[in-house]
Amino acid sequence: MTELTKLSAAEIAGLVAAGETSAVEVTRAHLDRIAAVDDRVHAFLHVDSDGALAAARDVDARRAAGEELGPLAGVPVAVKDVLTTKGVPTTVGSKILEGWRPPYDSTIVQRLRAAGTVMLGKTNMDEFAMGSSTEYSAYGPTRNPWDTDRIPGGSGGGSAAALAAYEAPLAIGSDTGGSIRQPGAVTGTVGAKPTYGGTSRYGLVAFSSSLDTPGPCARTVLDAALLHEAIGGHDPRDSTSIPAPVPDVVAAAKRGATGDLTGVRLGVVSEFADEGVEPGVLAAFNESVDALTKLGAEIVEVSCPHFRYALPAYYLIAPSECSSNLARFDGVRFGLRVGDDGNRSLEEVMSVTREAGFGPEVKRRIMIGTYALSSGYYDAYYGQAQKVRTLITRDFTAAFERVDALISPTTPFVAFPLGARTSDPYQMYLADLFTSPTNLYGGPGISVPCGLSGGLPVGLQVMAPTMADDRMYRVAAALETAVGTLTPPEL
Ligand code: GLN
Repeated sequence: MTELTKLSAAEIAGLVAAGETSAVEVTRAHLDRIAAVDDRVHAFLHVDSDGALAAARDVDARRAAGEELGPLAGVPVAVKDVLTTKGVPTTVGSKILEGWRPPYDSTIVQRLRAAGTVMLGKTNMDEFAMGSSTEYSAYGPTRNPWDTDRIPGGSGGGSAAALAAYEAPLAIGSDTGGSIRQPGAVTGTVGAKPTYGGTSRYGLVAFSSSLDTPGPCARTVLDAALLHEAIGGHDPRDSTSIPAPVPDVVAAAKRGATGDLTGVRLGVVSEFADEGVEPGVLAAFNESVDALTKLGAEIVEVSCPHFRYALPAYYLIAPSECSSNLARFDGVRFGLRVGDDGNRSLEEVMSVTREAGFGPEVKRRIMIGTYALSSGYYDAYYGQAQKVRTLITRDFTAAFERVDALISPTTPFVAFPLGARTSDPYQMYLADLFTSPTNLYGGPGISVPCGLSGGLPVGLQVMAPTMADDRMYRVAAALETAVGTLTPPEL
């Protein structure tokens, strides 16, 4: 049998269901792999070996008792440290929550447990999910398994790197401006941002509540769809959760895997070509467009004139919401408290705690957001950004009257060297150029590997109308049949 860690989630689940391996054996193989490589990758902030083995034993016992198990039973999963896990440390990559063990599980984690998946641990991320390289983690960067001197993307670099390093076959991410899709692109893995409201935010530590969307990360499109189905759907504990069933993403991925896209109209956003895409990324994208044509898709050029304002609008709306959301970290209710020596006022303790607990990027966002919301500037910044958000949504709506889905490169550039963009925030923000429009609109987007540039992975993004998540899985799975999965060099 091939090494268990190299198998897809669907393959692992099949072997477990057939009794050809056990959940415990699969879990041990992944824990061993983590022990062997994670000192070089640093995908994990916390490995929960005991919890994972206990969950795996439970799955094996239920199977032995003849219980009917779900399609992912016994499959290990790594969870981004932005989701609360009962009794298991949850830091959001920040010192301000160091040592916090939440008293409850997020809905996503509850559903992962109910599906019989085995949580291996919590993955590294940019502090509070703000960043595109995982270098803003307070616990040190994650490295890209394709080249450990390069970034794995962000903010969910830990989840993507865990997949590319074969430490986990499945992972959970969260996407506010691209944090599932961009790490997927630069690590040669698959990352899907569901329709906003299609996956529950209950227990997702909030960054920008009108944009935050948890979602699946995997090495294959089918695995991402299986995970999406397991975690998605209505949650009464999230007031923005959509009261509708998950679109049939698994069937769509299987349909796409037949490699037939006859009758599917795909739009290429014409304005994206002028946006400073690296030549190697553009070449891989153009080859994929040819491949999609060969699979039967019709390619149409579509103008979305307001997409070029997505980045500035995103970098006002997200910080504005963050400045409000992060007010709850006050040294009183959760995690870190500094300077409480009996001589300081409550306000001083809050101030000293926030000064010590937040990193520079988080502070920058809080300051930008507070400024954008301040009286006198509100209309000029936050209000204007909201108007741009409406115009972007109209661009999407108009485009989807002409085409079934839009395609673009996921990111303008491949994985860059560690340190290359940390001194210039704007250079870091450019990573979100092609992913942020989707968040402002609220629709689904997926990144699927589409080739290499200079030996590094390139991702293609498929964007679909809200609640048409199935469509993007069909297109992504079809492209996967043409391109294949990308295999990184041995670590
Ligand atoms: N790179 C973006 C940011 O820094 C996206 C973050 C995200 O999707 N969580 O805000």
